[in-house]
Amino acid sequence: MRLSELGEFDLISTLAARVSDHDPRVVLGIGDDAAAVRSDSSRLLLATSDALVEGIHFTRQTTNAFRLGWKTLAVSVSDIAAMGGMPAFALVDLGLPEDTDIEYADEIYSGLQACADEFNARIIGGDTVSSPREIFIALTLLGEVEPGMMVSRQGAKPGDRILVTGTLGDSAAGLALLTGRNCEIPAADKRFLEDAHMEPIPRLNEGRIIASRNWATSMIDISDGLAGDLTRISHASGVGAVIYADKLPYSDAYRHFVEACGVDPLALSLHGGEDYQLAFTVPNALAEQIIAQANELDIRLTEVGRIKAEPGISIRYPNGEIKELLAGGYEHFTGTEKI
Ligand SMILES: [Mg+2]
Repeated sequence: MRLSELGEFDLISTLAARVSDHDPRVVLGIGDDAAAVRSDSSRLLLATSDALVEGIHFTRQTTNAFRLGWKTLAVSVSDIAAMGGMPAFALVDLGLPEDTDIEYADEIYSGLQACADEFNARIIGGDTVSSPREIFIALTLLGEVEPGMMVSRQGAKPGDRILVTGTLGDSAAGLALLTGRNCEIPAADKRFLEDAHMEPIPRLNEGRIIASRNWATSMIDISDGLAGDLTRISHASGVGAVIYADKLPYSDAYRHFVEACGVDPLALSLHGGEDYQLAFTVPNALAEQIIAQANELDIRLTEVGRIKAEPGISIRYPNGEIKELLAGGYEHFTGTEKI
């Protein structure tokens, strides 16, 4: 059934049926003028929002409705993780063209709810509106963090070492494959990279461990590429950074992809974006200990660079050569890729 054949009330009740807000913290969920929730006054309230617009952030060819819903919430969970916090409540505004199939909207909500279940968030409200042509989803996520545990982008000091969770470049490689890049790589690698793009796993557990053990002097989630996101830490902390070109962590699938496609591995790992890993800085003297402790918890951390006093981001090659990088990352309003 198309949306145009269904009234707004029916649409809302169809979508609300997908949502589970059973939680002692939720006093009133979807269905009243506003939701009412209990908050813990001893914690800081975190708030973040993200909007995904069809044609800009996704297309119906590069994802499906379930995964679109998943990713919309996952990218906000990643922001909360980067603060050292825990997600709590989400509000979702969904814009749908009138000819949208109701099942498509329903599946978006299934994806949202699956991600909410995975990361212990509750969808407590939002709005559905009709959109002239494109689908859009705007999501606000509230989270909580103990005041002493919050990690911001400020606080990186010259000499600090830069660590990242997981591997870099997978999502951008997946997007390249989804948008028609034709390379001879094993089907399992292709699936791994495409999954990394369509259904990212935010590093919530890792963020909580980093924050609770007081490891990080600053932290950010890698949404726009390591180079762009380190630029943000550098600006916020009043420092610069050197990235080690030969130390970036890659998955086997990513290695196969760059070999088969003849792609410079640094192009996507530095500037590709949407990895949703965490990048954080730690005091020089503690780095080895932190990496070893994380290893015991089955968390892969890799040292990828160092904070320097001089502003700017540079890259150091194994032969000792150092090159200055510009900010990098994707600039939304100009739509240009800077390298
Ligand atoms: Mg972020």
